[in-house]
Amino acid sequence: DFDFADRVGRVEPSATLAISNLAGELEADGIDVVDLSVGEPDFPTPENIVEAGKDAMDAGHTGYTSSNGIPALKEAIVDKLHDDGIDCGTENIIVTPGGKQGLYEIVHTLIDDGDEVVLLDPAWVSYEAMVKLAGGSLKRVDTSPHDFQLEPALDELAETVSDETELLVVNSPSNPTGAVYSDAALEGVRDLAVEHDITVISDEIYKEITYGVSQTSLGSLEGMGDRTITLNGFSKAYSMTGWRLGYFCAPESVVQQAGKLHSHSVSCAVNFVQHAGVEALRNTDDAVAEMRDAFEERRDFLVDLLAEHGVDVAVPDGAFYMMLPVDDDDQAWCEGAIEDAHVATVPGSAFGTPGYARISYAKSQERLAEAVERLAAHDYL
Ligand code: PLP
Repeated sequence: DFDFADRVGRVEPSATLAISNLAGELEADGIDVVDLSVGEPDFPTPENIVEAGKDAMDAGHTGYTSSNGIPALKEAIVDKLHDDGIDCGTENIIVTPGGKQGLYEIVHTLIDDGDEVVLLDPAWVSYEAMVKLAGGSLKRVDTSPHDFQLEPALDELAETVSDETELLVVNSPSNPTGAVYSDAALEGVRDLAVEHDITVISDEIYKEITYGVSQTSLGSLEGMGDRTITLNGFSKAYSMTGWRLGYFCAPESVVQQAGKLHSHSVSCAVNFVQHAGVEALRNTDDAVAEMRDAFEERRDFLVDLLAEHGVDVAVPDGAFYMMLPVDDDDQAWCEGAIEDAHVATVPGSAFGTPGYARISYAKSQERLAEAVERLAAHDYL
């Protein structure tokens, strides 16, 4: 028997993974499952990025790099953030093996036992887990009564945050809702953050994937530069989930402290992957736009198809997710949907919002149509 640390007892395995395990079991039995549970683009990584990775390997970029990242990548990141209106330099950047690792480092750098963190529900599953691992306490504001928009929930946010609040996590475009927060909502966040001296993580990993609107970076707002930590990664916009590459931009003192966690855990992100990241940021706008256009078409296709079955969803303006309203017992709905209709989705309760199932529509229209047909045939719509 092992005497496990309290921290691992505080969290559960990722709900998304539990569903994909179930899907995997069915598939192993030869059953065709339409898997709308995974949060990853179905496109290959753009060719120029793959080539840059291979070239970097051939050129011998296979050793450790400086812990916070290679200069060329940090410079490309700074240029990208400048385009987004964020004032920063390479000293503000840590390059991480995936955005998730960056978030983990930030939370563990800022949050001690009992420190208060505020999440906007529905919230991506790992925020809660990371805060619990760090010993923090959670308060949550539910945006679901407002079609997942933040602006109408600002009053509730104002009632929830206080001088006790250490950290607020904002994720727009949002996983799991696809909502894109308005500038007025972000300005409301700014006012509260300044009033109560709150640090804000702005998780902008879906920023490049928006439809007909654009996402303002929170860190570009006046008063937010020195209290925002901007998080991003290459997984979603560049279809690079398995490469594991991300970064964050933070005030220098945060970079110094987080850099200790970074250097004592991962040492650095993979060398040749960082070189591929430079190519992604510098030369891949067209491929990003093509993927975004495909996601938009799929969104429209799925929203229309669901409407034909009498199901109205809050139409997402970004990312590649939408929340399907289902039974109160969303867990049972999702289990039933996968077992009977062989369609995999993730229960909303995993994101703090029961009564919904998250659909990831990063799949071909043919597969999306198949999913809706199956759900309808088994009375799940
Ligand atoms: N943030 C959000 C909201 C996400 O959905 C994800 C991935 O699912 C991440 C961060 C982390 O992605 P990665 O670690 O692949 O960069």
